[in-house]
Amino acid sequence: MGGAFPRLNDAKKARRLVVVFGDQLDASFGPLADLDKTRDVVLMMETDEEQRYVRSHKQRTALFFSAMRHFAADLADSGVRVRYVCANDRGNLQSFDEEVGRAIAKLRPESVHCVHPGEWRVLRTVEAWRDRVPVEIHEDEHFFTPIDRFQSWAEGRKQFTMEYFYREQRKRFDVLMDSDGKSPLGGAWNYDKDNREAFKVTPNPPKPYTPRLTEITKEVLDLVEARYPDNPGSIEGFRWPVTRDQARRALDDFIEHRLRLFGKYEDAMWTEQPFLYHSLLSPSGNLKLLNPRECVEEAERAYEDGVAPLNAVEGFVRQWLGWREFIRGVYWTQGPDYPNRNGLDQHGTLPDFFWTGDSDMACLADCVGVVIDHGFAHHVPRLMVMGNFAMLAGVHPREVADWYLAMFVDAVDWASNPNTIGMSQHADHGVVGTKPYAASGKYISRMSNYCEQCRYKISKRTGDDACPFNVFFWDFLFRHGDRFEGNNRMAMMLKNAERISSEERVEITSSAASLRGRLGV
Ligand code: SF4
Repeated sequence: MGGAFPRLNDAKKARRLVVVFGDQLDASFGPLADLDKTRDVVLMMETDEEQRYVRSHKQRTALFFSAMRHFAADLADSGVRVRYVCANDRGNLQSFDEEVGRAIAKLRPESVHCVHPGEWRVLRTVEAWRDRVPVEIHEDEHFFTPIDRFQSWAEGRKQFTMEYFYREQRKRFDVLMDSDGKSPLGGAWNYDKDNREAFKVTPNPPKPYTPRLTEITKEVLDLVEARYPDNPGSIEGFRWPVTRDQARRALDDFIEHRLRLFGKYEDAMWTEQPFLYHSLLSPSGNLKLLNPRECVEEAERAYEDGVAPLNAVEGFVRQWLGWREFIRGVYWTQGPDYPNRNGLDQHGTLPDFFWTGDSDMACLADCVGVVIDHGFAHHVPRLMVMGNFAMLAGVHPREVADWYLAMFVDAVDWASNPNTIGMSQHADHGVVGTKPYAASGKYISRMSNYCEQCRYKISKRTGDDACPFNVFFWDFLFRHGDRFEGNNRMAMMLKNAERISSEERVEITSSAASLRGRLGV
């Protein structure tokens, strides 16, 4: 692939203007599947607005731009008329709305088409184009579950339980099922109990496939560094697939080399080893360079061929067929105000170290440092270290959600917001989870080697050298205990909190207050 790619600049009228957003890079369905190459025009846009409405990590922006440019180049190579607007093009009006307006004025299309956007904000923008021109929004066939099907499943349920949804998906698509089509293969629906091992010695997992940088990617990396110098994250070490072929190779590499131990160690962490046995495929999936069906099929095949055990394959399948689809369903059924929920009524500020990694807590310094360096962390640092800390400390969930949306290369609105507001911060009034993912430092100590190198004492919950996770964990239970009264899943934790003497309780509460002051929460 060369560095140049075509930017259509003809004024010839278009029949259909097909708008392709950066997270819709699959030409196999929707309006791209039946293009009239002579009369239709595909519009793709890089805009400052999208990079600045949350402070997008440089690698996140680079991934979107590079993957979009490769996709546009492939379309153009196949004879499609592509109008591609680069971020630094003179005349770029720097917003989707205004660029579509400019294209409509120039090409005078009979209609505008796009696949259903992955974000309420963008959907509203697209719907407003109807004032100017007929607009058709096509079903997003990338997903197993159409939005209206999830809505029917969700109807009348106060609380959504992923496990029930997932079991229905398994049966419906006949994935990892016994020959009767009703019982799960191996006799269990999930193998979580086998998937919680920590490393006893320094792990040595096979290195994940890292694509070589193309000329297009190099050009984009320079552009991002020059144009968005104040956006967070490092541009060095960009390692993400930017084409369909690269994404497919990353999938094959994972199945062959890391899936086998993925399940067993999926919750484990280790200093300076962010990738371990994880697939790193979520960025490719969320840009639609990979289809969830092929991920599920390849994992099933690996089990049938004896390449990977059931606990690993089931854990991987659950992410694609269960959790990812469930989270998207939650996003669209809960409405555009979902990201503003604050069910625990927390109002603190996100500490600065979330942007710099500069912390004396060994776990947070490593986990945030990895996010800055790679725009990535696997689900346990996300949920049980960074997210857990923000919730325990009392940070406003909107600040946490904006940080996640900005800092991860796989962050798209439909995925990031329910994972943060619902699962991580328990701010959605219990729609996604029946209890908060609150844990003291003990969990981190059990699943990693972080505490061995930390200045804080994991065994302590009071005093200057007490582990801040411990201090905040008990303080969290004191602050929110009343909310969880009657919640059986919280009963043990609350009972333990009640056993703490009133003197120690005062000490913990005051340590938490001074920690908050010191950290700027
Ligand atoms: Fe993190 Fe506490 Fe362990 Fe330090 S002692 S690494 S702050 S969990």
